[in-house]
Amino acid sequence: MIEVAEAGLLDTLDKEELAKLTQALVRIDSVIRPESGGTERNVVRFIADWIHGEIGIKPIIEEVQEGRENVVATLDSGSQGPCLMLEGHTDVVSEGSRDAWSHDPFGGEIADGRIYGRGSCDMKAGIAVALVTARAVAKSRAWAGKVRLGFVCDEEGMMIGIKHFIRGGHADDVTACLVPEPEENNLCITMKGAIRAIVRVHGRMAHGAMPLSGINPNTRLARIILAFEELEAAEKRRCGIDPLIGLPSITFTVLQSPPPGSPAQLNVMPGEAVAYVDIRTTLAQSHDGLRERLRGVLRELAKADRDLNAEIEFIEDRPVVGIPRDEPIARISAAAFRDVTGREPVWNGVSGATDGTFLSAWKKIPCLVNGPGPRHIPHQADEYVELDQVWECARVYVLSSLRFLRPRGPDGSPRP
Ligand SMILES: [Zn+2]
Repeated sequence: MIEVAEAGLLDTLDKEELAKLTQALVRIDSVIRPESGGTERNVVRFIADWIHGEIGIKPIIEEVQEGRENVVATLDSGSQGPCLMLEGHTDVVSEGSRDAWSHDPFGGEIADGRIYGRGSCDMKAGIAVALVTARAVAKSRAWAGKVRLGFVCDEEGMMIGIKHFIRGGHADDVTACLVPEPEENNLCITMKGAIRAIVRVHGRMAHGAMPLSGINPNTRLARIILAFEELEAAEKRRCGIDPLIGLPSITFTVLQSPPPGSPAQLNVMPGEAVAYVDIRTTLAQSHDGLRERLRGVLRELAKADRDLNAEIEFIEDRPVVGIPRDEPIARISAAAFRDVTGREPVWNGVSGATDGTFLSAWKKIPCLVNGPGPRHIPHQADEYVELDQVWECARVYVLSSLRFLRPRGPDGSPRP
């Protein structure tokens, strides 16, 4: 049940303002464009100014890489309590071919109750929700602890933003985190893990007319691809379907032979082949165990063919993370969802990693991913977010935050 004081604070939210804020964020192009120097910079300035103007605190802007920055702000109630983090990423993926869009990708147009544009759901609407939530909490007199706002760069890349944020100590005092990535306001308590790897196969270059004088890395890479596919099938059988995040996978995404830098010629057998592998994991797998199994596949193939000389390099590790449904941030958000919507929440998992993956894995911070926007739409043309879902999310966030930050008596029970 929503209490009177809570209802009063929810009443300060303004749906039209929320729409306008989301539109304004979408209209600032924050695609990373190395060719023209485009970065998150302008949206970072906008967010920092908004926080300063609307909440009255001056955020810290930290440079992570040239032109790529994080915005960090802390609202302090002045009394002891937990620190709730509201997280978002400011980068968006490329709009791709503009011909594929029926709306301007940076127009923030509203049509049929949807806001269109690149980043509308992934995740500028989420950032707007986090901002108005922080302001609403700041207006409340009945809260304890802190709110940490962390809007970071490069989530769509190697996640250097959140890693820098954590290394800078900004997550040290965080008790729990809400991540408004587009999940249709489902409560996502698990995030799939990922391992990124590069396979290099060393052969010996030869004339295409005299292949026997060389060692063909391409045919060996083909065998590795098929052997990894077998391992994938075995892992799927062994792990089964996770109810929230589905099946694990091992996917070759890029094949390069010869590798970049060496000219490709039809009558030249290259000396090396390189392949990128995108591996997604579930709770039933251990990353160490899986890495060992992948290395084992190469060892077995090399036993059968002494000319097969291949290695696998692991370049990124994003562990599978999860929290139970009765974790305070999940339990409180579920109750807030019921009170705001009158519906039962949908429990779910995130099919990829998010910034929350690192907050969970590196700092053991319970993260709940529950933002507005269709789950299948991010990175597509005509990306959109439903305004009603943004509105619902903002009310759920405000209520969850207030309850999470409710002042407690000496025995830990919430003060009325
Ligand atoms: Zn995202």
